[in-house]
Amino acid sequence: MEYRSSDMIDKYLRTRKIPSTACSGCGLGMNHKIVVQAIKELGLEVADVIWGTSIGCAGRQTFATCKGDGFAGTHGRVYAIARGLRIALPPEKKIILTVGDGDAFGIGLMHLIHAARSNAAMTVIVNDNLGYQSTGGQYGWTTPQGSHTDSSPYGMFEHNLMSDGMDVLHILKGAGATFLARHVAMDGKKAVETVRKAIRNPGFSLVHMPYPCPTNFAARELGSRNAVNIYRWIQERAAPMGQEKEGTVWSTGIWHDASGSRPEFSQHIHETVDKIRRTGSL
Ligand code: SF4
Repeated sequence: MEYRSSDMIDKYLRTRKIPSTACSGCGLGMNHKIVVQAIKELGLEVADVIWGTSIGCAGRQTFATCKGDGFAGTHGRVYAIARGLRIALPPEKKIILTVGDGDAFGIGLMHLIHAARSNAAMTVIVNDNLGYQSTGGQYGWTTPQGSHTDSSPYGMFEHNLMSDGMDVLHILKGAGATFLARHVAMDGKKAVETVRKAIRNPGFSLVHMPYPCPTNFAARELGSRNAVNIYRWIQERAAPMGQEKEGTVWSTGIWHDASGSRPEFSQHIHETVDKIRRTGSL
């Protein structure tokens, strides 16, 4: 299926939100396009998807951009709201959350873990701009080690959720997530294919998607807001799993696929409640 498609815009996006309020050269739109393309390829209609966003660049730039029903959660709480919605909605409705790294892996991590633990059917797209860019460019939970940011002028030296063999995806796998993957914004068709699989999983899916921030991250780390430089910088540090080399920060591809292996949260609750109603016991 063709990757570029102008009718995709008319069908799925609110044109009054285009161009977005993202800075010129921001890579967030590439992540967004990957997700919308995946939806199109799955043959989903506007009414099939419920969108959720949160705070920061990822929340602000994607809120209400897609046609259909959507909601914005407070910082880090969007996963809890989505779990509630999951119980209320028919199982065929897809819940897709477009959030940021600070939201998912920082303030919201405990809520995210509970969404994974319960295997609640939702797809979480973590748009990672490598720190707190909407507040000026402080380092965060996934800022590559050594990077110069507003709050790490000598280079990011704290251990984080991506360094020294630690990986936030390990935490989520341990918590019970049934689909986990990572792609950078420039991964195009491969990322679309992964997001399609993530959305198809009848349980908790998360795709971590680092993307270029020319305005704050690049300005401090590379000394330039020229978008080309930060696109190259990220691409040089990303490699498909199994093809990593020295300096690889992001191993890309499907990291864990246990689709359909555990009972889904809302189905489990509905079945259990039905049984208690019928029999008076578990
Ligand atoms: S601050 Fe960075 S991540 Fe945020 S919209 Fe601007 S370029 Fe994109």
